[in-house]
Amino acid sequence: MNIQLYIVPTPIGNLEDITLRALRILKEVDVILAEDTRTTAKLLNHFGISKPMFSHHLHNEHQTVQKLIERMQNGEVIALVSDAGTPGISDPGFLLVREAVKAGLAVQCLPGPTALVPALVNSGLPCDRFCFEGFLPQKKGRKTRLENLKDEDRTMVFYESPFRLVKALQEFSDIFGPGRQASVSRELSKIYEETRRGTLQELISHFSTGTVKGEIVIVVGGK
Ligand code: SAM
Repeated sequence: MNIQLYIVPTPIGNLEDITLRALRILKEVDVILAEDTRTTAKLLNHFGISKPMFSHHLHNEHQTVQKLIERMQNGEVIALVSDAGTPGISDPGFLLVREAVKAGLAVQCLPGPTALVPALVNSGLPCDRFCFEGFLPQKKGRKTRLENLKDEDRTMVFYESPFRLVKALQEFSDIFGPGRQASVSRELSKIYEETRRGTLQELISHFSTGTVKGEIVIVVGGK
């Protein structure tokens, strides 16, 4: 089957994590849609790929999606990438995939880097069943989302900014109890990669002592 839209995961910190297939597809497609064309240009330059690029991000995807569908209907093959990881996972992607599927186009997502899987597996918490919660809302709806997870018995995976890490751990402790096992993975696949495991109380004590930097995934054990 001829694919018209490829969803291509890109490294979350270590360029060695790009797959051979991702490189081939990026070389073969007609156009690359990138969340930030400057970020993707660096990746493409590194691998010696030169390709027309359009920007495709949360602020323009609603305006451009129909035009993109038409381009694919007219025979262009498109690859969507985000700044890091798998498009559609806390990144733009869902809208384009939904509309492409609706239009009867052939869509394929390549397997590849994403932050949630290594964080989950590294946590040492059960990973046979889990739920991915992505980013919690920053204000409105945050408490309700957490309340709804009170009785969740699967391992839970959250994306969070380093500036809100301690606040989030404190909120988790209030809802799930200070003794609940959890882990914080920081800077996965980068030089200062670190995974800290412990109870929510232990993690709060550890991360309250200084400034937290880098990208973060929090994993919390189920009930
Ligand atoms: N599409 C990406 C994926 O597949 O994981 C996620 C993009 S989202 C905008 C960015 C968030 O992912 C960060 O705030 C952090 O929670 C998580 N993340 C991305 N890269 C990471 C890394 N190297 N280490 C830890 N967390 C990371």
